[in-house]
Amino acid sequence: MDASGIRKVFDLAAKMKDPINFSIGLPDFDVPDVAKLAAIDAIKSGHNRYTQTQGIAPLRERLRKDLSREIGRDVGDVLITSGVSGGLFLAMLATIDPGDEAIFLDPYFVMYKHLLSLVGGKPVIVDSYPDFRFRADRVEKAITPKTKLLILNSPSNPTGVVMSRQEIADAVELARKHDLLIVSDEIYEPFLYDEANGLASPATAYNNTLILRGFSKSHAMTGWRLGYAAGPEPVIAAMTKLQQYTFVCAPSPLQYAALAALDVPMKDAVAAYRRKRDLVSEKLSRKFEIVRPGGAFYIFPKAPAGITASAFVTKAIENNVLIIPGNVFSERDTHFRISYATTDEKLAAGCEILCSLA
Ligand code: PMP
Repeated sequence: MDASGIRKVFDLAAKMKDPINFSIGLPDFDVPDVAKLAAIDAIKSGHNRYTQTQGIAPLRERLRKDLSREIGRDVGDVLITSGVSGGLFLAMLATIDPGDEAIFLDPYFVMYKHLLSLVGGKPVIVDSYPDFRFRADRVEKAITPKTKLLILNSPSNPTGVVMSRQEIADAVELARKHDLLIVSDEIYEPFLYDEANGLASPATAYNNTLILRGFSKSHAMTGWRLGYAAGPEPVIAAMTKLQQYTFVCAPSPLQYAALAALDVPMKDAVAAYRRKRDLVSEKLSRKFEIVRPGGAFYIFPKAPAGITASAFVTKAIENNVLIIPGNVFSERDTHFRISYATTDEKLAAGCEILCSLA
């Protein structure tokens, strides 16, 4: 297992003077003040000890209520995790026996492959180039008697693609037919730019779905390590048991702060990111082959013809623009990821440099 390619670029950035940094998946706004004050209050008033393994009751109850309303049925007990990363790790520990297989699309979020290897599972990666859409025929060919999980990630990191309602229905049909647990990584759920009716989650149509969401992106709390999981009762129970022996609990005072954060409307942030999505898509489409993203804050353009994505990324870094080569997220080395969660000025300047390099 190689060290994360993203962290390598992140380390490189620390040594550069004022780089245009398109490399890290982190909102450019800060944690809402209400949440900061709630965290300070929680620390001062003594919420500094272990919480219950599954998290504090008021946060779990609130999330259960909100999620149940959205999904259209009671989603059951919610488990507070140490980020969605914690949720993913516990989910795989809970469901994968050595040799079991889990399917996900290429390109994919870096952790899936490595976490699966860590628990003795086999990542089965289904190509989704060139448009990064979910194709049931391609996925069905990859299903074997050992397939346990279908991992979906919409909106996607690194492509920003949002699965349509039809694609979700197709995924659910496959999962039902082959008795698979869908692990639905919905960490970018608030960042949707073209959906009038919110995120299409497989959980609305299929009870055998484990929803993983978190506060890292929605409220810019990547360093606070807070996420949550809801899904089939035996899976949540197994994850809770495993949390006792791994993470123990998510950070105590920050769980109180997350509860306060849920009342902060984030629609201005989403509107700002929609505008950035438009800006970056418009500028890059002049020189690059792109798939216009519908969510998250990433775009995944194709590197110019005649050069690998890694070689193009090296050139970009030499010109002060930090981007991530696609082979970090993919079996291919043809594309690169831009995180456009940065100022409009940096965005325009960086796109200019990339276009002139192309
Ligand atoms: N899933 C996806 C798709 C992500 O992009 C990330 C963070 N980059 C995570 C999960 C993990 O997020 P966290 O552990 O901060 O909640």
